[in-house]
Amino acid sequence: MKRTFTCVLCPNGCDIEAELENGQVLGVEGNLCPKGKEYVTQEVVDPRRTIATSVPIEGGEIPLVSVRVTQPIPKGRIFDVMKAINQVRLQAPVHIGQVILPNVLGLESDVIITKEVKSVQGQ
Ligand code: SF4
Repeated sequence: MKRTFTCVLCPNGCDIEAELENGQVLGVEGNLCPKGKEYVTQEVVDPRRTIATSVPIEGGEIPLVSVRVTQPIPKGRIFDVMKAINQVRLQAPVHIGQVILPNVLGLESDVIITKEVKSVQGQ
């Protein structure tokens, strides 16, 4: 069976045609470098996605703070992780890199803050 992928590992965005059989990648065409085959294999065997979103924060100079996961999440668990993130409420101040959900859902990825937010008192 043939299936087409677009590699997102670099700005070239190669369109890769892969020959698949029983969940295995038999061969790829169209990739400009070997990472393309690794990307396709990951997508076939264990597709993962990163998450970047925002969380409400009280007492801060802005009402929302941006957060992200430190490691890509299995595609099938994205909804569960988003649900966990959506339950978080923060209090200013917060700092870049601050972990708000360590090892979220046991997936070996932390949810961290990606923006400094001072409190309205300037702390
Ligand atoms: S196959 Fe290589 S060159 Fe093409 S998008 Fe992926 S990483 Fe970039």
